[in-house]
Amino acid sequence: MIMQIQPQTGLLVDVKYSHSPNFDERPVTGQIDLLVIHGISLPPGEFGSDDVMALFTNTLNPQKHPYFAHIAEVKVSSHLFIRRDGEIHQFVPFTKRAWHAGKSQFQARENCNDYSIGIELEGTDTVAYTEIQYQQLAAVTVALMQTYPGITLERIVGHSDIAPLRKTDPGEAFAWDRYRQLLNELLVDQHRI
Ligand SMILES: [Zn+2]
Repeated sequence: MIMQIQPQTGLLVDVKYSHSPNFDERPVTGQIDLLVIHGISLPPGEFGSDDVMALFTNTLNPQKHPYFAHIAEVKVSSHLFIRRDGEIHQFVPFTKRAWHAGKSQFQARENCNDYSIGIELEGTDTVAYTEIQYQQLAAVTVALMQTYPGITLERIVGHSDIAPLRKTDPGEAFAWDRYRQLLNELLVDQHRI
């Protein structure tokens, strides 16, 4: 599977786009050299609702679930959300700064939102992510690496790697081996072309 990114707009081609108001400009235009993998589900541990999309677009109903009352006012977003069935949603252009990492640090550089792309997988720390999620994530990653060469295999991390005291996602359930295997296969294929 080949995915394409329009460099001018910073949007994936042929992917559902829901505009999030939770973004701003990157402090250094064009500086994109880290990919952060997250896991999220709303309500926590439940899959299939549209509540993550609602959270990222500030339309979450605080009365729908007790947990939502605490988070409905939180202003967050990610560039992409990959559902259990592999469907991809984009909320913020890659060229803009999404608000996914919070207080964070990678190799002595703070504020990872400034220079990273954030991808949320629908899931939890302890439930296996789906095969199609890995395939979609790998395909998107290769497209991102081609469009933003600062993102290399060594510069793909989990949220827990850059905010270890606060965050545990994508959790032990995320199979880094499977993800890297798929990435390597796709990258080898690309070089053959
Ligand atoms: Zn996260």
